Amino acid sequence: MGGTFDPIHHGHLVAASEVASVFDLDEVVFVPTGQPWQKQDRQVSAAEHRYLMTVVATASNPRFTVSRVDIDRPGPTYTVDTLRDLSAQRPDADLFFITGADAMAQILSWKDAGQMWDLAYFVGVTRPGHELAAPERAHGVGLLEIPAMAISSTDVRRRSAAGKPVWYLVPDGVVQYINKYRVYADPREPGGGAG
Ligand code: ATP
Ligand code: MG
Repeated sequence: MGGTFDPIHHGHLVAASEVASVFDLDEVVFVPTGQPWQKQDRQVSAAEHRYLMTVVATASNPRFTVSRVDIDRPGPTYTVDTLRDLSAQRPDADLFFITGADAMAQILSWKDAGQMWDLAYFVGVTRPGHELAAPERAHGVGLLEIPAMAISSTDVRRRSAAGKPVWYLVPDGVVQYINKYRVYADPREPGGGAG
């Protein structure tokens, strides 16, 4: 499961857990992006913070792991490269790529989209506020309805910067990490912020 994970939240974790259960997966690998090419217009938090929050959030689940392939590869992150790296590390694995409805809608615009279908089976999951449909021309795409979690990282960042609570939107350890490192404190407001 790829994502910016800025920060990881319970929507991501429910999606991963549901797909793992329905498709009987041995492992879900969370892959925080390097510099995401769709998000070059906004400042994304340091890769190391996003990676560590993902580790904290997934540590208690024996089937959840976190990969550094995207944050250690220089340049912008493309999913086709992620899949190539993961399949080189796990030559015998059948790869599934988990994506929410909003990301699924854009999938054909991803670099080398035509080659992605050979590398992994794509599973699109429902997300509140987004229509879930398999893109035309896409091969090997499954759709799955999951419990609706109306949570986004954007909302978590805004709430955190405004001093509003983010408890129960993200795992407890992630709340504590955000507060400890003031990850989303408003830089224009000295001493204010992370809440
Ligand atoms: P941002 O608001 O910064 O874009 P986000 O909440 O969309 O953050 P991403 O890291 O962009 O999180 O998403 C990673 C993947 O998780 C994407 O495929 C996205 O569609 C999926 N996803 C994110 N939140 C949910 C959710 N609440 N339910 C289902 N899928 C989700
Ligand atoms: Mg997003």
